[in-house]
Amino acid sequence: TTFADIGLSPELLRAVEESGYIHPTPIQEHAIPWVMMGRDVLGCAQTGTGKTASFVLPMLDILTGSRAKARMPRSLILEPTRELALQVAENFEKYGKYLKLNHALLIGGESMNDQRDVLEKGVDVLIATPGRLLDLFDRGRILMADVKLLVIDEADRMLDMGFIPDVERIVSMIPKIRQTLFFSATMAPEIRRLADAFLSNPKEITV
Ligand code: AMP
Repeated sequence: TTFADIGLSPELLRAVEESGYIHPTPIQEHAIPWVMMGRDVLGCAQTGTGKTASFVLPMLDILTGSRAKARMPRSLILEPTRELALQVAENFEKYGKYLKLNHALLIGGESMNDQRDVLEKGVDVLIATPGRLLDLFDRGRILMADVKLLVIDEADRMLDMGFIPDVERIVSMIPKIRQTLFFSATMAPEIRRLADAFLSNPKEITV
């Protein structure tokens, strides 16, 4: 299988090619086509499997062609730590270099005023840790009404770090008509319960 076989746009194929990747990894090969078809995905995959590109590439494909309004992100990626959020943002820069989409990072330790200004300009892809996102939401700086694509990454680490109540609150603010991608390295009963609550008829992929 090649990246062209899984139906990515020429702009994405070019960026992938420049990354030096020849073949999709198993999680990419199995997840990307389902995500592009609009399905929810439950991915059981660890870091290092190419998991990030398995959601970043199809998200870019889906979001291409329209733009976000002020304070209304069109997609949201939740990450448990600032380091992981930064890595995901780097992936958006790398794969999105030939597309006209923007992304923003909402993580602790960065200026709240800068983040507020970025949100005001309109963000296609918001990459956030739960605490900072809720902080800005509670200040009225983010509206969730346009979020149609939600990614919950590293759910097992969210659990370990005590973020599940925050994640549940965030998901409850997002419209129910959406596409949700949920990734975890393990599927403990508590993770399974969350996946059941957040996902609708998901395609389950284990690598
Ligand atoms: P991840 O699991 O998303 O953290 O990715 C692990 C590493 O694999 C990163 O350094 C990626 O740049 C790299 N990677 C992702 N997809 C591929 C691919 N299809 N071929 C080769 N390397 C890849």
